[in-house]
Amino acid sequence: MGLQKRRYSLQPGRFPVNISVQCDPSFDFFLAADHKGRIFDYALTRKASVKDIIESLGIPHTEVGSILFDSQKIDFSFVPVSPGKLQVHAVQAPFNVLAPSSLRPVPLEAIRFIADVNVLKLGRLLILLGFDVACSSFFSDEKIADIAREESRIVLTRDTALLKRKKIVFARRIRSDFPYEQVREVIDFFGLQDLTAFFSRCTACNRELVPVAKSDIIHLLEPKTRLYFFDFLQCPQCRKVFWKGSHYEAMKDTFSRLGLSFGPA
Ligand SMILES: [Zn+2]
Repeated sequence: MGLQKRRYSLQPGRFPVNISVQCDPSFDFFLAADHKGRIFDYALTRKASVKDIIESLGIPHTEVGSILFDSQKIDFSFVPVSPGKLQVHAVQAPFNVLAPSSLRPVPLEAIRFIADVNVLKLGRLLILLGFDVACSSFFSDEKIADIAREESRIVLTRDTALLKRKKIVFARRIRSDFPYEQVREVIDFFGLQDLTAFFSRCTACNRELVPVAKSDIIHLLEPKTRLYFFDFLQCPQCRKVFWKGSHYEAMKDTFSRLGLSFGPA
């Protein structure tokens, strides 16, 4: 990729080193008021990687798409030791996590998420749309980072500090306060419009549903459901039975109003 890895310069500069910093306008979301919307000076008092510099400004490394120092493309390990201009660009949507990029040379093999406790409703809605989402209100920040690494999952959270953890490579700091808007945000950001499969997973367990014969579960059904529905799916874990009743239609309408397709049902 031709990335410049001047981890430690042959001619270490004298600190403090003054650099100028220009951030993508979308990073105003993270920056302090006096850094928003402008190029600003930053005095480095010691050797620090650009990852540390960027995160000290409030921007999690997971949101960064590319970095330039004096117009040279660099990676997170680059350590500025002389004055120059640091430009920090945001990950551009749609972010294809399945393809290698300069800052993330090892892509994911599949699209899987882990939802932090502050976006659990978003997590459940994504499961409803057929995505593999690990959700739990019991995960600590450390556990989330461990699961993200071990199971190659994209972290979804509204906790900026969580995303500064090194183990987390792929993530989205969710901006919206509202779960349905958050769904839209995730779908658009990761370019998932064509990958939805509505009603294919258990929203409680995140397991893929399997078809089940009506005769096998008829004892679990209410009289009206017995009468009017013929196709059923069951969660292999919690054994909950699903059918396309009024709840299904209501959810489908809601997603339609948001302009979200839901794939083959
Ligand atoms: Zn289940």
